[in-house]
Amino acid sequence: MTNSYDTLFEPLELGPVEIPNRVYQPPHGNAYGLGDQQTAFRAEKAKGGFGLIIQEYSQIHESTDVTPVDPGFLHTDETIEPQREMVEAVHDHGSKLFVELWHGGLTASNYGSRQPPLSSSQTPSGNYYTPKEMEHDDIEEIVEAFGTAADRARQAGYDGVELHAAHGYLISQFLSPFYNDRDDEYGGSLENRMRFFEEVIDSVDDAISDDMAFGARFTIDERVEGGLTADGEGLEIVERIGDDLDFWDLDIGVKQSIDDMIGPSRRHSKNYQIEFIEEATEALDVPVGGTGRITDPRDAERLLESGALDMVGMARQSIADPHWPKKAREGRVDQIRECIGCNICVSQSRQGIPLICTQNPTVGEEQRWGPEEYEQVDEPKGILVVGGGPAGTEFARVAAERGHIVHLNEKERELGGRINFEGSLPGLSEWKRVRDWRETELDRLDVAVHTGSRAEMEYDDVRTYGAEIVVIATGGHWSEKGVTSGTHQPVLGWDQDHVLTPAQAVDADLSDERVVIFDEEGYNVSAGVAQTLADDNDLTFVTPRTSAFQETLHTFERKTIYSDLYSAGVDFVPDHTLTQVDEESVTATNVYSDETTVFDVDHVVFTTMRKSNDDLYRELKRNEETLTSETEIEEIHAIGDCVSPRRIADAVYHGHELGRNT
Ligand code: SF4
Repeated sequence: MTNSYDTLFEPLELGPVEIPNRVYQPPHGNAYGLGDQQTAFRAEKAKGGFGLIIQEYSQIHESTDVTPVDPGFLHTDETIEPQREMVEAVHDHGSKLFVELWHGGLTASNYGSRQPPLSSSQTPSGNYYTPKEMEHDDIEEIVEAFGTAADRARQAGYDGVELHAAHGYLISQFLSPFYNDRDDEYGGSLENRMRFFEEVIDSVDDAISDDMAFGARFTIDERVEGGLTADGEGLEIVERIGDDLDFWDLDIGVKQSIDDMIGPSRRHSKNYQIEFIEEATEALDVPVGGTGRITDPRDAERLLESGALDMVGMARQSIADPHWPKKAREGRVDQIRECIGCNICVSQSRQGIPLICTQNPTVGEEQRWGPEEYEQVDEPKGILVVGGGPAGTEFARVAAERGHIVHLNEKERELGGRINFEGSLPGLSEWKRVRDWRETELDRLDVAVHTGSRAEMEYDDVRTYGAEIVVIATGGHWSEKGVTSGTHQPVLGWDQDHVLTPAQAVDADLSDERVVIFDEEGYNVSAGVAQTLADDNDLTFVTPRTSAFQETLHTFERKTIYSDLYSAGVDFVPDHTLTQVDEESVTATNVYSDETTVFDVDHVVFTTMRKSNDDLYRELKRNEETLTSETEIEEIHAIGDCVSPRRIADAVYHGHELGRNT
């Protein structure tokens, strides 16, 4: 074993509990509920070397119900047993498992439990309800419920508990003047606002056993006007409580600043939260952990050595590669699959859809697919993959891991497919990790990769190649016709020279032009093209949707996109569909009133739909009988966008799935 990360792999005492190293998974949801899938997901991280895993935010009372999202649960005795199995599964790999005790306060709609949502004050929820300002009886009941839930955590065998005193949930709603406008002994002065937190600490402290660790996740800087700050009351709260707790797990952001809390790569660079946390680490005598897009072992080691952190937290990175610590420890840094910061993971889980990952298609599949384990084939086959985008490279990699002999032909000069364009858009350069990691792995696995025009494959090339299995992964392209889900028709006048594809618009290097983007994608390509063109052109963004970039609402990329585009003076025209393109103008029709508006333009860009590049696949399938009887070809498959243009995560998954089954 060779590595230079000595500090990273030193044990650390968190009160009575020694964790085997300083790499931990801070709590994060996954909408898996409790049971085998949850257990397998957390255990995989223990197997991959995370010294401490903190099970996700867990409901402590029926008045914190976020149906249909499926968080952790500790509000009934029935929830104890499945968690005991999870604790044992994590212990089997030598790691420790804590759990986070959570009450959402005003963020919990209670649509399932029908209980009144609770909060310190009647603060706006942002949804169609206002919470109840908690009476003293409510406070007493919830303080006691935290203790009862902590006792259930003890019975389940957890090694420790962490209070969720962060992110604008109930404890934050008492601590922070952004939420709390009470005028009794729980509001006003900092001392009063801390009272609820301190009562909860006492309640939990009484319930847990002496051999359990006790800490808190705390938002040291809320990143909102009037909220807690890292150089103000945020730091003061941490200093006042200090070593009453065994450890602190610090981060930044609340619901209103969630794009700072779970910062996408589009918005935040690596290690972006450390500047808010390091002063607290210095001020405290107990260990402090922090997070915020830490993905590189060299950075992690440096943050520990410099004293900025005592332990390094990775939520998304632990999803993208649950074996990060093991690979770092064994000096296999090149094999670490770095998170790209796209937030597809959280986008799913916060809507109650089971968590997935763009980089790691085995997430949520751990019971059948170990991310580092591949069933070897009895009879290796010669496989030809046509297309080196996300699906093709992932398939080729997995097939090679399983022992097949794989050739991959890509007609462009470099691998990557759609990643090469999308990763070149503003703020998305880290998305190229999808390509780079797979390229490195294909090299390690001795896959024969051919690129460039001589690697372009037509029907006869495939027919005579000598492969036994042919996999077509030729991707997709943007429709030139502006077809939308509302019309199913080409926009009149679509076939003119000034109507551009997204790539043409970016490559054209436009300036001082009047440009209309007509969009129904609502995601990274329309946003990226708009960001590229906005500063130097007079840009109008037309969409039949009620707001633009709806797909980025749950990936927390909207704030960055909108602030860039509003600052550049972009005009947004929602609720309109483009009905006609003329030589120097376009006509947009309101989808509700049918009123039309005419805009002067020099260029029009369509980002409405993508179509599959499936000609080669369909030609092969038409001739399948002949091919399988007259050549070595036994099977023909298509994967990724070539079948159905979807998210990058879906293309990677599709390639992986076929690789596991071939
Ligand atoms: Fe990272 Fe994206 Fe995977 Fe989430 S989905 S862990 S942000 S790569």
